[in-house]
Amino acid sequence: MAAGRPEQGDKRVSERNAVVLKEFGADLEITSFPEVKPEAGAVVVDVSHAGICGTDMHLQHGKLPIPLPVVLGHEAVGRVRRLGEGVDTDATGAPLREGDLVSWASNIPCGTCFYCAQEEEPSLCETRKVYGINQSCAQWPHLSGGWSEQIYLQPGSTIVRLPEGVTPEQVIALGCAGPTVVHAVLGIGKPREGDVVIVQGSGPVGLAAAMYATMAGAAKVIVVGGPANRLEVARQVGIGDVHVDIFTSTKAESRLAEVLAETPDGRGADIVIEATGVPAAVAEGIDLTRKGGKYLVVGQYTDHGPTPLNPHLITRKQLQVLGSWAFSPKNHLDYVLSVPELVQRFDLSKLVTRYKLGEVNEALVDMRSGATLKPVLVSGAVS
Ligand SMILES: [Zn+2]
Ligand SMILES: [Zn+2]
Repeated sequence: MAAGRPEQGDKRVSERNAVVLKEFGADLEITSFPEVKPEAGAVVVDVSHAGICGTDMHLQHGKLPIPLPVVLGHEAVGRVRRLGEGVDTDATGAPLREGDLVSWASNIPCGTCFYCAQEEEPSLCETRKVYGINQSCAQWPHLSGGWSEQIYLQPGSTIVRLPEGVTPEQVIALGCAGPTVVHAVLGIGKPREGDVVIVQGSGPVGLAAAMYATMAGAAKVIVVGGPANRLEVARQVGIGDVHVDIFTSTKAESRLAEVLAETPDGRGADIVIEATGVPAAVAEGIDLTRKGGKYLVVGQYTDHGPTPLNPHLITRKQLQVLGSWAFSPKNHLDYVLSVPELVQRFDLSKLVTRYKLGEVNEALVDMRSGATLKPVLVSGAVS
Protein backbone atom coordinates (compact mmCIF):
# COMPACT_ATOMS: atom_id res chain seq x y z
CA MET A 1 0.00 0.00 0.00
CA ALA A 2 1.31 3.42 -0.94
CA ALA A 3 -0.42 5.46 1.75
CA GLY A 4 1.40 8.70 2.38
CA ARG A 5 3.67 8.39 -0.63
CA PRO A 6 3.68 11.39 -2.95
CA GLU A 7 1.42 10.92 -5.94
CA GLN A 8 3.17 10.55 -9.29
CA GLY A 9 3.40 13.89 -10.99
CA ASP A 10 2.25 15.86 -7.93
CA LYS A 11 3.80 19.25 -8.69
CA ARG A 12 3.08 20.55 -5.20
CA VAL A 13 5.55 18.16 -3.62
CA SER A 14 8.38 20.31 -2.30
CA GLU A 15 11.96 19.33 -1.65
CA ARG A 16 13.83 19.24 1.64
CA ASN A 17 17.60 19.36 2.09
CA ALA A 18 19.36 16.68 4.06
CA VAL A 19 22.95 15.73 4.86
CA VAL A 20 23.81 12.41 3.24
CA LEU A 21 26.68 10.00 3.85
CA LYS A 22 27.20 8.31 0.48
CA GLU A 23 30.61 6.71 0.98
CA PHE A 24 32.57 5.84 4.13
CA GLY A 25 35.42 8.23 4.78
CA ALA A 26 34.14 10.84 2.33
CA ASP A 27 32.77 14.30 3.07
CA LEU A 28 29.05 14.52 3.62
CA GLU A 29 26.84 15.99 0.91
CA ILE A 30 23.60 17.94 0.87
CA THR A 31 20.90 16.20 -1.14
CA SER A 32 17.26 17.12 -1.50
CA PHE A 33 14.35 14.75 -1.12
CA PRO A 34 10.63 15.22 -1.70
CA GLU A 35 8.50 16.03 1.31
CA VAL A 36 6.08 13.16 1.96
CA LYS A 37 2.67 13.08 3.59
CA PRO A 38 2.51 11.07 6.79
CA GLU A 39 0.77 7.69 6.62
CA ALA A 40 -1.49 6.73 9.53
CA GLY A 41 0.48 6.79 12.80
CA ALA A 42 3.40 8.75 11.32
CA VAL A 43 4.44 12.35 11.89
CA VAL A 44 6.39 14.75 9.67
CA VAL A 45 8.58 17.20 11.60
CA ASP A 46 10.50 20.28 10.45
CA VAL A 47 13.83 19.81 12.19
CA SER A 48 15.16 22.92 13.92
CA HIS A 49 18.18 21.56 15.83
CA ALA A 50 20.16 18.37 15.26
CA GLY A 51 23.11 17.27 17.35
CA ILE A 52 26.37 15.75 16.19
CA CYS A 53 27.82 13.07 18.44
CA GLY A 54 30.96 10.95 18.52
CA THR A 55 29.08 8.03 17.01
CA ASP A 56 28.49 10.09 13.86
CA MET A 57 32.25 10.38 13.31
CA HIS A 58 32.54 6.62 13.66
CA LEU A 59 29.62 6.10 11.26
CA GLN A 60 31.20 8.43 8.71
CA HIS A 61 34.37 6.35 8.78
CA GLY A 62 32.64 2.99 8.49
CA LYS A 63 33.36 1.82 12.06
CA LEU A 64 29.81 0.53 12.49
CA PRO A 65 27.91 -1.51 9.89
CA ILE A 66 25.20 0.69 8.37
CA PRO A 67 23.43 0.85 5.01
CA LEU A 68 24.45 3.61 2.58
CA PRO A 69 23.38 6.12 1.53
CA VAL A 70 22.02 7.42 4.81
CA VAL A 71 20.80 10.75 6.15
CA LEU A 72 22.79 10.92 9.39
CA GLY A 73 21.54 12.43 12.64
CA HIS A 74 20.07 10.41 15.51
CA GLU A 75 19.36 13.30 17.83
CA ALA A 76 17.12 16.18 16.84
CA VAL A 77 14.34 18.53 17.85
CA GLY A 78 11.79 20.22 15.64
CA ARG A 79 8.29 21.44 15.02
CA VAL A 80 5.43 19.15 13.98
CA ARG A 81 4.51 19.88 10.38
CA ARG A 82 1.89 17.21 9.75
CA LEU A 83 0.30 14.57 11.91
CA GLY A 84 -0.72 11.27 10.36
CA GLU A 85 -4.17 9.88 10.98
CA GLY A 86 -4.65 8.63 14.51
CA VAL A 87 -1.83 10.64 16.11
CA ASP A 88 -3.27 13.16 18.54
CA THR A 89 -1.18 12.73 21.68
CA ASP A 90 2.51 12.52 22.53
CA ALA A 91 4.19 9.74 24.56
CA THR A 92 3.00 11.28 27.82
CA GLY A 93 -0.63 11.36 26.62
CA ALA A 94 -0.62 15.17 26.26
CA PRO A 95 -2.37 16.58 23.16
CA LEU A 96 -0.11 16.88 20.12
CA ARG A 97 -0.78 19.47 17.45
CA GLU A 98 0.81 20.74 14.28
CA GLY A 99 3.29 23.46 15.22
CA ASP A 100 4.27 21.87 18.54
CA LEU A 101 7.97 21.63 19.39
CA VAL A 102 8.89 17.98 19.85
CA SER A 103 11.74 15.60 20.46
CA TRP A 104 11.67 11.88 19.63
CA ALA A 105 13.51 8.74 20.58
CA SER A 106 16.03 7.81 17.90
CA ASN A 107 15.04 4.17 18.00
CA ILE A 108 11.95 2.01 17.52
CA PRO A 109 12.42 -1.43 19.15
CA CYS A 110 10.61 -4.41 17.61
CA GLY A 111 8.56 -5.03 20.75
CA THR A 112 8.40 -8.81 20.29
CA CYS A 113 11.94 -10.26 20.60
CA PHE A 114 13.35 -11.86 23.78
CA TYR A 115 14.93 -8.58 24.94
CA CYS A 116 11.88 -6.44 24.18
CA ALA A 117 9.15 -8.77 25.40
CA GLN A 118 10.74 -10.93 28.12
CA GLU A 119 13.71 -8.99 29.46
CA GLU A 120 11.97 -5.62 29.07
CA GLU A 121 15.31 -4.17 28.00
CA PRO A 122 14.54 -2.79 24.53
CA SER A 123 17.95 -1.12 24.28
CA LEU A 124 19.21 -4.67 23.53
CA CYS A 125 16.71 -5.31 20.72
CA GLU A 126 18.62 -6.51 17.70
CA THR A 127 16.18 -5.40 15.04
CA ARG A 128 15.28 -1.94 16.23
CA LYS A 129 15.08 0.84 13.69
CA VAL A 130 17.37 3.78 14.43
CA TYR A 131 16.91 7.14 12.72
CA GLY A 132 20.10 8.49 11.21
CA ILE A 133 21.85 5.12 11.50
CA ASN A 134 20.19 2.07 9.97
CA GLN A 135 17.45 3.55 7.78
CA SER A 136 18.86 4.08 4.28
CA CYS A 137 17.64 7.19 2.50
CA ALA A 138 17.58 5.20 -0.75
CA GLN A 139 14.30 3.81 0.51
CA TRP A 140 11.00 5.55 1.14
CA PRO A 141 10.38 7.76 3.08
CA HIS A 142 14.02 8.89 2.47
CA LEU A 143 14.01 11.57 5.18
CA SER A 144 15.00 9.20 7.99
CA GLY A 145 17.73 11.16 9.71
CA GLY A 146 17.92 14.29 11.83
CA TRP A 147 20.55 16.21 9.83
CA SER A 148 17.87 17.46 7.55
CA GLU A 149 15.29 20.18 7.17
CA GLN A 150 12.65 17.55 7.72
CA ILE A 151 12.26 14.07 9.14
CA TYR A 152 9.58 11.45 8.67
CA LEU A 153 8.81 9.79 12.01
CA GLN A 154 7.47 6.31 11.36
CA PRO A 155 4.52 4.77 13.18
CA GLY A 156 5.70 3.50 16.57
CA SER A 157 7.99 6.46 17.22
CA THR A 158 8.15 7.83 20.76
CA ILE A 159 7.48 11.54 20.39
CA VAL A 160 7.41 13.98 23.29
CA ARG A 161 6.39 17.62 23.34
CA LEU A 162 9.06 19.86 24.83
CA PRO A 163 8.17 20.76 28.42
CA GLU A 164 6.94 24.31 29.04
CA GLY A 165 9.75 26.88 29.08
CA VAL A 166 12.37 24.48 27.69
CA THR A 167 14.10 25.48 24.45
CA PRO A 168 15.15 23.14 21.60
CA GLU A 169 18.77 24.15 22.23
CA GLN A 170 18.58 23.05 25.86
CA VAL A 171 17.18 19.66 24.87
CA ILE A 172 19.73 19.07 22.11
CA ALA A 173 22.67 20.24 24.27
CA LEU A 174 22.99 16.71 25.63
CA GLY A 175 21.52 15.00 22.57
CA CYS A 176 21.80 11.23 22.79
CA ALA A 177 24.12 11.61 25.81
CA GLY A 178 21.09 12.59 27.91
CA PRO A 179 19.03 9.41 27.39
CA THR A 180 22.24 7.30 27.33
CA VAL A 181 23.04 8.53 30.81
CA VAL A 182 19.46 8.25 32.08
CA HIS A 183 19.71 4.58 31.11
CA ALA A 184 23.27 3.98 32.34
CA VAL A 185 23.51 6.07 35.47
CA LEU A 186 19.94 6.20 36.78
CA GLY A 187 18.86 2.78 35.45
CA ILE A 188 22.01 0.69 35.96
CA GLY A 189 24.68 2.48 38.05
CA LYS A 190 22.14 3.94 40.50
CA PRO A 191 24.25 6.33 42.58
CA ARG A 192 23.06 6.82 46.14
CA GLU A 193 22.78 10.01 48.16
CA GLY A 194 26.22 10.90 49.51
CA ASP A 195 28.22 8.79 47.03
CA VAL A 196 31.56 9.93 45.72
CA VAL A 197 31.50 9.51 41.94
CA ILE A 198 34.37 9.63 39.46
CA VAL A 199 33.56 10.23 35.80
CA GLN A 200 36.22 9.31 33.25
CA GLY A 201 35.72 11.48 30.17
CA SER A 202 34.48 15.01 29.62
CA GLY A 203 32.60 14.69 26.35
CA PRO A 204 28.81 14.98 26.32
CA VAL A 205 28.29 11.52 27.91
CA GLY A 206 30.82 12.22 30.68
CA LEU A 207 29.40 15.64 31.45
CA ALA A 208 25.84 14.31 31.38
CA ALA A 209 26.90 11.50 33.75
CA ALA A 210 28.40 14.06 36.11
CA MET A 211 25.22 16.17 36.03
CA TYR A 212 22.89 13.23 36.71
CA ALA A 213 25.18 11.95 39.50
CA THR A 214 24.95 15.38 41.14
CA MET A 215 21.17 15.47 40.71
CA ALA A 216 20.96 11.97 42.23
CA GLY A 217 22.58 13.34 45.39
CA ALA A 218 26.28 12.49 44.96
CA ALA A 219 28.37 14.23 47.61
CA LYS A 220 31.29 14.80 45.26
CA VAL A 221 31.73 14.32 41.52
CA ILE A 222 35.26 14.16 40.15
CA VAL A 223 35.61 14.61 36.38
CA VAL A 224 38.79 13.17 34.85
CA GLY A 225 39.03 14.37 31.26
CA GLY A 226 40.21 17.02 28.85
CA PRO A 227 41.28 18.98 26.90
CA ALA A 228 41.40 22.09 29.09
CA ASN A 229 38.74 24.00 27.14
CA ARG A 230 36.19 21.23 27.79
CA LEU A 231 36.96 21.21 31.51
CA GLU A 232 36.69 25.00 31.52
CA VAL A 233 33.20 24.77 30.01
CA ALA A 234 32.31 22.14 32.63
CA ARG A 235 33.46 24.49 35.41
CA GLN A 236 31.54 27.42 33.93
CA VAL A 237 28.36 25.36 33.68
CA GLY A 238 28.86 24.00 37.19
CA ILE A 239 29.38 20.39 36.13
CA GLY A 240 31.49 18.36 38.58
CA ASP A 241 33.20 19.44 41.82
CA VAL A 242 36.79 18.55 40.92
CA HIS A 243 38.35 18.49 37.44
CA VAL A 244 41.50 16.56 36.58
CA ASP A 245 43.04 17.26 33.17
CA ILE A 246 44.51 14.12 31.59
CA PHE A 247 46.37 16.32 29.09
CA THR A 248 48.45 17.88 31.88
CA SER A 249 48.36 14.95 34.30
CA THR A 250 49.66 12.53 31.71
CA LYS A 251 51.41 9.92 33.88
CA ALA A 252 49.02 7.13 34.81
CA GLU A 253 50.55 6.51 38.23
CA SER A 254 50.62 10.09 39.44
CA ARG A 255 47.18 10.74 37.95
CA LEU A 256 45.82 7.78 39.89
CA ALA A 257 47.31 9.17 43.12
CA GLU A 258 45.94 12.64 42.33
CA VAL A 259 42.40 11.37 41.73
CA LEU A 260 42.37 8.92 44.64
CA ALA A 261 43.47 11.75 46.95
CA GLU A 262 40.12 13.38 46.18
CA THR A 263 38.20 10.35 47.53
CA PRO A 264 37.51 9.65 51.26
CA ASP A 265 40.68 8.21 52.86
CA GLY A 266 42.01 7.72 49.33
CA ARG A 267 40.03 4.48 49.05
CA GLY A 268 38.47 5.22 45.67
CA ALA A 269 35.01 6.19 44.49
CA ASP A 270 31.74 4.44 45.30
CA ILE A 271 30.96 4.53 41.60
CA VAL A 272 33.28 5.15 38.66
CA ILE A 273 31.64 5.87 35.31
CA GLU A 274 33.65 5.27 32.15
CA ALA A 275 32.70 7.69 29.35
CA THR A 276 35.88 7.90 27.30
CA GLY A 277 35.56 5.32 24.53
CA VAL A 278 39.23 4.52 25.11
CA PRO A 279 39.84 0.85 26.04
CA ALA A 280 42.90 1.66 28.21
CA ALA A 281 40.70 3.78 30.48
CA VAL A 282 39.02 0.62 31.81
CA ALA A 283 42.06 -0.65 33.77
CA GLU A 284 42.48 2.81 35.28
CA GLY A 285 38.80 2.95 36.15
CA ILE A 286 39.05 -0.32 38.06
CA ASP A 287 41.96 1.16 40.04
CA LEU A 288 39.83 4.20 40.87
CA THR A 289 36.90 2.19 42.25
CA ARG A 290 36.78 1.45 46.00
CA LYS A 291 36.38 -2.07 47.36
CA GLY A 292 32.77 -3.14 47.00
CA GLY A 293 32.16 -0.30 44.55
CA LYS A 294 30.67 -0.19 41.08
CA TYR A 295 32.45 0.32 37.79
CA LEU A 296 30.06 1.32 35.03
CA VAL A 297 31.32 1.12 31.44
CA VAL A 298 29.26 3.35 29.15
CA GLY A 299 31.69 4.89 26.70
CA GLN A 300 32.84 1.85 24.69
CA TYR A 301 30.11 2.23 22.06
CA THR A 302 32.51 1.56 19.19
CA ASP A 303 34.68 -1.59 19.28
CA HIS A 304 38.25 -0.32 19.61
CA GLY A 305 39.58 -3.76 20.51
CA PRO A 306 40.85 -5.48 23.66
CA THR A 307 42.90 -3.98 26.46
CA PRO A 308 45.06 -5.50 29.22
CA LEU A 309 43.50 -5.51 32.66
CA ASN A 310 44.01 -7.48 35.83
CA PRO A 311 40.86 -9.47 36.63
CA HIS A 312 42.25 -10.31 40.08
CA LEU A 313 41.29 -6.77 41.08
CA ILE A 314 37.62 -7.42 40.25
CA THR A 315 37.60 -10.35 42.68
CA ARG A 316 39.83 -8.86 45.34
CA LYS A 317 37.95 -5.57 45.40
CA GLN A 318 34.63 -7.38 45.05
CA LEU A 319 33.65 -5.00 42.29
CA GLN A 320 30.39 -4.81 40.44
CA VAL A 321 31.43 -4.25 36.82
CA LEU A 322 28.45 -3.04 34.83
CA GLY A 323 27.82 -2.20 31.20
CA SER A 324 25.17 -0.10 29.53
CA TRP A 325 24.25 -0.15 25.87
CA ALA A 326 22.42 2.77 24.23
CA PHE A 327 18.94 3.57 25.57
CA SER A 328 15.27 2.81 25.17
CA PRO A 329 12.47 5.14 24.02
CA LYS A 330 11.38 5.35 27.68
CA ASN A 331 14.87 6.58 28.65
CA HIS A 332 14.55 9.27 25.98
CA LEU A 333 11.18 10.33 27.35
CA ASP A 334 12.56 10.46 30.91
CA TYR A 335 15.49 12.52 29.68
CA VAL A 336 13.30 15.15 28.02
CA LEU A 337 11.04 15.32 31.07
CA SER A 338 14.10 15.87 33.30
CA VAL A 339 15.39 18.85 31.29
CA PRO A 340 13.45 21.46 33.32
CA GLU A 341 15.23 20.23 36.47
CA LEU A 342 18.59 20.04 34.69
CA VAL A 343 18.42 23.61 33.40
CA GLN A 344 17.62 24.98 36.85
CA ARG A 345 21.05 23.81 37.88
CA PHE A 346 23.12 23.80 34.69
CA ASP A 347 23.22 26.26 31.79
CA LEU A 348 23.02 23.59 29.08
CA SER A 349 23.05 25.98 26.12
CA LYS A 350 26.68 26.91 27.02
CA LEU A 351 27.68 23.44 25.78
CA VAL A 352 26.40 24.14 22.25
CA THR A 353 28.16 25.53 19.17
CA ARG A 354 25.80 26.24 16.26
CA TYR A 355 26.43 25.38 12.62
CA LYS A 356 24.26 25.59 9.51
CA LEU A 357 23.32 22.36 7.75
CA GLY A 358 25.79 23.16 4.95
CA GLU A 359 28.61 23.55 7.48
CA VAL A 360 28.37 19.94 8.66
CA ASN A 361 31.85 18.94 7.47
CA GLU A 362 33.45 21.83 9.39
CA ALA A 363 31.40 20.90 12.44
CA LEU A 364 32.74 17.33 12.30
CA VAL A 365 36.33 18.59 12.03
CA ASP A 366 35.80 20.89 15.02
CA MET A 367 34.35 18.08 17.08
CA ARG A 368 37.17 15.70 16.23
CA SER A 369 39.75 18.28 17.31
CA GLY A 370 37.92 18.91 20.56
CA ALA A 371 37.42 22.58 19.63
CA THR A 372 33.69 22.24 20.24
CA LEU A 373 31.92 20.22 22.87
CA LYS A 374 28.52 19.88 21.27
CA PRO A 375 28.14 20.92 17.62
CA VAL A 376 24.50 21.44 16.69
CA LEU A 377 23.15 21.86 13.16
CA VAL A 378 20.51 24.55 13.02
CA SER A 379 18.19 24.29 10.08
CA GLY A 380 17.20 27.40 8.16
CA ALA A 381 13.75 25.94 7.55
CA VAL A 382 12.51 26.85 11.02
CA SER A 383 13.17 30.01 12.98
ZN1 LIG B 1 24.85 9.70 19.61
ZN1 LIG C 1 13.10 -6.34 20.00
